[in-house]
Amino acid sequence: MRLVQPDSVADATSALGNGSRALAGGTELVPLLRSKLVEADTLVDVRAVVPRGVQGTTIGAGTTLAELEVAPEIPAVLRESCSLAASPQLRSMGTIGGNLLQATRCWYWRLRYPCYLHGGDVCHARQGAHREHAIFGNERCASAHPSDPAAALLALGATVRTDRRSFPIADLYRLPTDDDRDVTALEPGELILELEVPQPEASTYVKAMGRNRFSFALVGVAAVRNDGETRLALAGVAPVPWLLHGPDELDRATPLPGTAYKVDLARPLVRRALEAVA
Ligand SMILES: Cc1cc2nc3c(=O)[nH]c(=O)nc-3n(C[C@H](O)[C@H](O)[C@H](O)COP(=O)(O)OP(=O)(O)OC[C@H]3O[C@@H](n4cnc5c(N)ncnc54)[C@H](O)[C@@H]3O)c2cc1C
Ligand code: SF4
Repeated sequence: MRLVQPDSVADATSALGNGSRALAGGTELVPLLRSKLVEADTLVDVRAVVPRGVQGTTIGAGTTLAELEVAPEIPAVLRESCSLAASPQLRSMGTIGGNLLQATRCWYWRLRYPCYLHGGDVCHARQGAHREHAIFGNERCASAHPSDPAAALLALGATVRTDRRSFPIADLYRLPTDDDRDVTALEPGELILELEVPQPEASTYVKAMGRNRFSFALVGVAAVRNDGETRLALAGVAPVPWLLHGPDELDRATPLPGTAYKVDLARPLVRRALEAVA
């Protein structure tokens, strides 16, 4: 395997594609390479070219979660979602750009079962063990999106800027379809450079985990209030970060037998988040 270290965005993007992958902190990519879930003949180290740090309302995609959790100028919801993610070691290596593009933690997918998300025609989790899985958007793939900051950025209505376009973060994610099993909508070789994050009046992130620390969200709730309106977005409940159109949408959840408890878990979390930003 080759490692290239470009010193401009143009050089980085021209080195991407055709069997190469962008490498940032490597906390996600390296384990995926090791378990052969991702194949690459070239790694393109993008750390020198993807912006890092916070400038006003702009966050460089190369900023680590550890830097964001102590950045006083960013909205509380994003700070809190970063501080509740992973472990201190992972947060000091892992970048926000890499976090948004992390793959599902579904154990069938990680163990390379030929499931729907891998291009097959069956979701093994539906019949098998699925305690950590989805309660929304789960007709084909019942995986639960693992990113806490993605829910925060979705509630904030952040904008993603790449080397070729800008779009709302909601458009970064898509439910897998028969034609395309990907859950993100980046073009091949496209690099996330920055996030534009509006400053809300009030915001918070609350998270239920299997243990107090260093655990993926069973349910994470981001709440953001602006101009008298509150936006809610959830982590750990659907194959993509999920915009919740009010607490009543939980009545229309489609849990699997083993995930029904997540609906009951989400109700008080949503209530608590709404109270915190009221
Ligand atoms: C044990 C463990 C526990 C974790 N717990 C949590 C948790 O509770 N909550 C949570 O939210 N996350 C959690 N994570 C995820 C962790 O936060 C991510 O692994 C990390 O943020 C990824 O960032 P990275 O820079 O290391 O990405 P990398 O591993 O370098 O890259 C990840 C992916 O993103 C691509 N990529 C990276 N940067 C860019 C870019 N700028 N443009 C385009 N593509 C890019 C890479 O090609 C790769 O496909 C956990 C991870 C582990 C291993
Ligand atoms: S939940 Fe998704 S990733 Fe997991 S087995 Fe089902 S199709 Fe595969």
